Amino acid sequence: MSEQMIQVNKLNKYFGDLHVLKDIDFHVEESEVVVLIGASGSGKSTMLRCLNFLEMKNSGELYIKGEQIDPKKDNLNQVRQQVGMVFQHFNLFPHKTVLGNVIEAPLQVKKVSKAQAKKEGKELLEKVGLGDKADDYPARLSGGQKQRVAIARALAMKPEIMLFDEPTSALDPELVGEVLQTMKDLAKEGMTMVVVTHEMGFAREVADRVVYMHDGKIVETGAPKDIFENPKEERTQAFLSSIL
Ligand code: ADP
Ligand code: MG
Repeated sequence: MSEQMIQVNKLNKYFGDLHVLKDIDFHVEESEVVVLIGASGSGKSTMLRCLNFLEMKNSGELYIKGEQIDPKKDNLNQVRQQVGMVFQHFNLFPHKTVLGNVIEAPLQVKKVSKAQAKKEGKELLEKVGLGDKADDYPARLSGGQKQRVAIARALAMKPEIMLFDEPTSALDPELVGEVLQTMKDLAKEGMTMVVVTHEMGFAREVADRVVYMHDGKIVETGAPKDIFENPKEERTQAFLSSIL
């Protein structure tokens, strides 16, 4: 068996009385791209946030690269460095330049030298196609460019896993493609990725596996072709016909 980058066993999460994740079993292998789909409120964001310890699970086991993480004992900042996250809203620092945004965490959290951080930051901006924007402020960028900066910023911590929570949902339609292309490039390089998205074209093309969530449970999982063309579960069929 190849090494699991993420392994989740019987994960449960409550918000007060609301049972949001119900006995979730989930795994992601190295270099695998898993696309998580499901209706609004089904628990997709909470799932990603539990993987990154932005939310704490109530029960169940969570392993990152084979190591069980215990939030009480483990240094969560270290775990978070391994698991980068990109959100729907990019949350860039408006008073910092594009490069300033990208180097902030390596400087503050990893204590990398400024020269080194800048060098690596510029390389990452080249990689996401924004080499010429290093000295601009976020307000001058389009939404698609901002999101690519957010991706570069997450990559600056050299994560081994990247989580994307609807990274293109806040973008004008004509800007979606450039962000998806950046994600495709990352997938091609072998990055392990979990992506919540409604972009079914991306899922078909890039995902190794699609996971359908409904009401806090994983209802069905399979290769994109199987899920889209031949879903086994009625609820998956209903969901897909509601969005396609
Ligand atoms: P999705 O991302 O699939 O739309 P979420 O994970 O955001 O779903 O939400 C799952 C459920 O948990 C929803 O009913 C939502 O209202 C609820 N929820 C999410 N975050 C919180 C929170 N911080 N406090 C209380 N309820 C929450
Ligand atoms: Mg969500």
